[in-house]
Amino acid sequence: MKTSSKKTRASTQIVNVNGVEIGGDKFTVIAGPCSIEGPEQFQTTAEGVKSSGAVLLRGGIWKLRTSATTFQGLGSDSFSFIREVCKKTGLGLVSEVTDARQIEELHDVVHMYQVGSRNMHNYALLKELGKTNKPILLKRGFAALIDEWIKAAEYITNGGNNQVILCERGIRTFETATRNTLDLNAVAYAKRMTSLPVIVDPSHAVGISELVPDLALAAAAAGADGIIVEVHPNPAEALSDGQQALTLQEFSLLMKKLDRVLNALDRGLQRPPEMSL
Ligand code: PEP
Ligand code: MN
Repeated sequence: MKTSSKKTRASTQIVNVNGVEIGGDKFTVIAGPCSIEGPEQFQTTAEGVKSSGAVLLRGGIWKLRTSATTFQGLGSDSFSFIREVCKKTGLGLVSEVTDARQIEELHDVVHMYQVGSRNMHNYALLKELGKTNKPILLKRGFAALIDEWIKAAEYITNGGNNQVILCERGIRTFETATRNTLDLNAVAYAKRMTSLPVIVDPSHAVGISELVPDLALAAAAAGADGIIVEVHPNPAEALSDGQQALTLQEFSLLMKKLDRVLNALDRGLQRPPEMSL
C-alpha cells in the first residue's frame, strides 16, 4: 500500500445527490426495488422506505438480466410516474444507465446514474458519463480487481465529473452458497486509497434476503459511507431479484439496528434532505 496516497475519512470528497451529502460522517441509506414495475409498486415502496429513513430511492428502469427472456425493465414508459413519485416523496432516484444512448434520456429522471457491475469495464460509457454534471454510482465488476475498479472511476473523473461514488456489490469467488462474496476488504481499501465515498450493496452481494441485514450492519461497522439495498412490498411477486428483497417491515427493522450500530461508532443515519425537487 502506498502510504503517500493514504487518505483519512476527513478527506473524503462529498458527493451531493439531490441535497443528500454522501461521504461525510453520516451514513446514507438508498433503498427501493430491483426493478420499477409500475406506479403502485414504486410508490408503495418509496413511501415505505422513506418512512423508515431512506434518503434516496433506487429502482431499475432498464435491466441487464442474465437471461434475455426475463423482464428487461419498463423503460421510458415509466418516466412520468417515476417523476411523480420522486416529487411526492421529495426523494432523488438512482437508476442504472445500461447504454450511453440512455444518458440523455435519463437526465431529467434520475438524480444519480448507476453503472452496473456488468458495465464497469465499458470505458466508452464511463467516458460519456465523465462529460455529464450528475453524480455517478460506479459498481464494482463482479470479477474486477479493486485496482481495476478504482482505475475505472478515473475514466469518469478525468472527463471532468468528479462526483463519483464507489459501490462494492460482491465478487464472484469459488463460493456458491451465496450469490456473490461481499468483499469488505475492498471497502476499507478504497476508503483508504481514494478520496471517493464508498458504499455497499448487500443485496447483490449475498443474494438471500435473510442475510442482507447482517451484511448491511457489517458494512456500517467497516466504515462504508452508506448502503444501497433492495426492498419490495411483496418480494414473492417481484419481477426481478425477489429472493434478495427485504419487505418494508424487514427494512424498517434493519434501519433501527443500523441506527444503533452507527451510534456506537459516533456516526449516525443521514436525515432526509429538504424537499428540493
Ligand atoms: C442492480 O442494482 O439491480 C444490479 C443489476 O446490480 P449489479 O450491476 O451490481 O448486478
Ligand atoms: Mn437487482
